[in-house]
Amino acid sequence: MKPDGEFQNIIAGSGPGGAVAASMLAAQGQSTAVLEAGLDWAKLPPPVPFSFDEIQKKYRQRGMTVALGTPKVAYAEGCCLGGGSEVNSGLFHRCPEALFAEWHKRYQLKPTPEDIWEHIYAGIEKELSVQCHPDGLPGAARMLRDGAESLGWQGLEVPRWVRYSSDASGATVEVRQTMSKTFLRQAAEAGCQFVTGTSVRRIERAGSHWLLHCHQRDGSFCREKVYRTENLFLACGATQTPFLLRRSGLALGKLSPLHLHPTIKVIAKFPGEINGPEMGVPSYQVKEHAPDYSFGCSISTPQHLALNLLDHPEALRSMEGDGWRRHAIYYAMTTGGKGRVLDPRLGDKPLVTYALDHPELALMNRAARDLMRLLLAAGAEYVVPTVRGAPIVRTEEELAALPEAFPAADMNLMTIHLFSSARMGEDSAAVTDTYGQLRGQENLWVADASLLCGPPSVNPQGSIMAIVKRNLLHHLGQL
Ligand SMILES: Cc1cc2nc3c(=O)[nH]c(=O)nc-3n(C[C@H](O)[C@H](O)[C@H](O)COP(=O)(O)OP(=O)(O)OC[C@H]3O[C@@H](n4cnc5c(N)ncnc54)[C@H](O)[C@@H]3O)c2cc1C
Repeated sequence: MKPDGEFQNIIAGSGPGGAVAASMLAAQGQSTAVLEAGLDWAKLPPPVPFSFDEIQKKYRQRGMTVALGTPKVAYAEGCCLGGGSEVNSGLFHRCPEALFAEWHKRYQLKPTPEDIWEHIYAGIEKELSVQCHPDGLPGAARMLRDGAESLGWQGLEVPRWVRYSSDASGATVEVRQTMSKTFLRQAAEAGCQFVTGTSVRRIERAGSHWLLHCHQRDGSFCREKVYRTENLFLACGATQTPFLLRRSGLALGKLSPLHLHPTIKVIAKFPGEINGPEMGVPSYQVKEHAPDYSFGCSISTPQHLALNLLDHPEALRSMEGDGWRRHAIYYAMTTGGKGRVLDPRLGDKPLVTYALDHPELALMNRAARDLMRLLLAAGAEYVVPTVRGAPIVRTEEELAALPEAFPAADMNLMTIHLFSSARMGEDSAAVTDTYGQLRGQENLWVADASLLCGPPSVNPQGSIMAIVKRNLLHHLGQL
């Protein structure tokens, strides 16, 4: 069969992992292509950032993805050229050093000198313009900081990958440095080809090469396409990479558990205005209890607030008129639980499950209470968790009177951080070696969040990009 395209390197998926790989491979002058299931929104009228229109257009399955369990965990992944980087908040962390050292010991990872990691991270931070907001923290984030300070808890303003400038009126304008504006642009300049709207359905070995069987969308039509490559890099993200491996018969029973950061939201109402159309991403996080749990503040548009208050009509009513400006959404993010990505052999979607055991649920409940306590200490009039049937809490006494644990089935958990489903390591349970090469397969690498050895306890994109960059340096003989 004659393939529709043939390249020395193919990268399936164009999120942060795939983008780093594509830029480094194309820079070598090697023929390189990226196959991406989503569309290139640079060529289309773009949706408003953080809007529901954006969720419909740039998220996998229009944002309707859930890991089954009790409680279930709704999850979100980007599905467009640039992957999650095009829709995310841009909060940058390096992988915590102590945790990374623990992964090395536990999973027998081969060492990479410290100065190389420093060089890798510094290069990524420079390329993405990682920096703090020139105007300081927005109102909702200041509340989080004030509450933490009044309890003596540690927190920090998290830098973001954003370029700032001023418009004619002197107002600050921000442009997120997504993959399509940075690493994918570099890849394109070095000759990389992008095939969008093209989902890799199955891969198979053909002699010394890999064949990729794809579905290519063109309006309402879907065509079958086949691509051929010598070197294949899977960067489809933490649910789709293991799903593709399973569908291709390459990982039967061999995959590592999926991990994620289970997150519960708490909506707080303050006496004064702390929110507004200009608020954007509030970038303060409280790390007092990390790595067990951390707190932060979410995008809090009226639509996001309304969605999170569906179970609380009384609070929903107080959002009317300008009321929403006194509300904001906060989150407590934990690290517990284990999941699986299965191929139900029906249709084209994986079945994702997630289980939190009793101690992990107890920690989630403790995290939610501590967050409510912090927000009351910051002066909130009331706080309400995203738990069906939970009361609105106005005082420390009401907080103390809450049941010790919310019923698991009533907790509305979510996550935007998924990883570890094809974990790296040199131990017998590792799916890939230290550098992402799939065990027992030639010229097949994983290059995305699936590689992480566990939950990083911080926003993961920085860790994903650094690990993929290190792996590509190794692959290119530059380490
Ligand atoms: C709303 C939101 C906010 C976030 N905020 C932050 C933040 O502030 N900071 C941070 O560090 N992280 C954040 N994250 C997480 C971060 O975006 C992800 O961890 C990161 O994007 C994962 O990178 P990846 O390369 O593993 O995969 P992804 O970014 O998921 O990219 C995978 C790409 O592969 C494509 N793909 C999937 N299957 C196939 C297939 N079969 N064939 C072809 N293409 C395929 C997908 O369409 C997608 O574009 C956020 C995520 C979301 C959703």
